[in-house]
Amino acid sequence: MARIVQKFGGTSVADIERIKNAALRAQAEYEAGNEVVVVVSAMAGVTNQLVEYVDQMGSLFDAREYDVVVSSGEQSNAGLMALALQDLGIQARSWLGWQIAIHTDEIHGKARITGIDTAELEKRLADGEIAVVPGFQGISPANRVTTLGRGGSDLTAVALAGALKADRCDIYTDVDGIYTTDPRIVSKAKKLDRITYEEMLEMASLGSKVLQTRSVELAMNHQVRVQVRSSFEATPGTIVVSEDEIVEQQVVSGISQSKDEAKITLLKVADRPGVAAAIFGPLAEAAINVDMIVQNISEDGKTTDLTFTVGTADLDSAVAVLEKNQTDIGIGEILADSDVVKISVVGVGMRSHAGVAQKMFLTLAEAGINIKVISTSEIKVSVLVGEEYGETAIRALHTAYGLDSD
Ligand code: ADP
Ligand code: ASP
Ligand code: MG
Repeated sequence: MARIVQKFGGTSVADIERIKNAALRAQAEYEAGNEVVVVVSAMAGVTNQLVEYVDQMGSLFDAREYDVVVSSGEQSNAGLMALALQDLGIQARSWLGWQIAIHTDEIHGKARITGIDTAELEKRLADGEIAVVPGFQGISPANRVTTLGRGGSDLTAVALAGALKADRCDIYTDVDGIYTTDPRIVSKAKKLDRITYEEMLEMASLGSKVLQTRSVELAMNHQVRVQVRSSFEATPGTIVVSEDEIVEQQVVSGISQSKDEAKITLLKVADRPGVAAAIFGPLAEAAINVDMIVQNISEDGKTTDLTFTVGTADLDSAVAVLEKNQTDIGIGEILADSDVVKISVVGVGMRSHAGVAQKMFLTLAEAGINIKVISTSEIKVSVLVGEEYGETAIRALHTAYGLDSD
């Protein structure tokens, strides 16, 4: 007997028919003698619609009420899933975040899970009941509903699997595993049997949203065995594992892209000690995350140019902050560009192989693609290119690193 947490994403529970189909997956594990916890997302598109309603309500934004609204898609699906399971003759009950309880901090809209009470769930599982849990929600210290950030049902599933010491956390979605790159963009993308936590964490944070970034982080820290698999086909999925479980290591395992990037260039910035702190300090105070940074050498010793990236959503406020401080800091001109995409190659094998970045630069040069900014870390190389070149770049790199399927 194993204990399994199954999570069904939005497309897998997008209508009644699909909820019934997902219930069959739970039934199969249950009838094989396993203990099963089912985590459900809202129906595909519902969360976006709820966010839209909040936006339309007016300019007064209250994150606590935002959470009440946007968490509701998961609530109805949890009840529907429990009914679908009961219809199959299985004892099943839904448990909202506050009923379990899934405790979080008070950061509404992107709350962090701080603890999960498992006693009641344990009892129900022992009684042969399937527990159905809505993803994406928890309860704050002030007893208010919180949500865990977009894509947060993955986090609910992994956190529950960790707290319940489950043998597996199966993430059912609309692709049959984790691929070398998004299979909806590159038809030659190859399915991976295994990927390391480190690589998946990088890929997720660099734009591969097949798993929510924080869910991978939690899985890694608690060694939760995560498998990504299809809701629609009974094929084996991709298992996320520790590095020592990978037998044959690829230098590059995957390629990610993020369109959620915008580039800011500051021209003729006074070249003196403390200027970088003067620029990035106010941005940090405004809670704007800065990612890639390059500073050009100063030609005249007096001024220099500085380029960096921020999230697209933060572009306007970043420019506003800079404009406010422009004269004080001594910035000649501020240029903003949101038509860019960040392409990253990721692989733990990079630690022991040289030449990965060089191959990337050469491949992009041969494809006639200009690189605007570069950044690297131990297991990834990222470049920023014009948005119109994004897909060409991914395809060329996918071939160059030998990742194409036959
Ligand atoms: P769900 O609603 O089930 O959570 P998501 O849309 O969040 O599903 O995640 C699945 C999607 O992730 C796929 O449809 C695919 O387009 C995208 N994706 C991006 N990168 C990858 C990748 N490397 N491997 C597989 N899928 C990927
Ligand atoms: N429904 C939420 C969202 O769309 C959470 C999830 O599906 O993971 O972000
Ligand atoms: Mg998702």
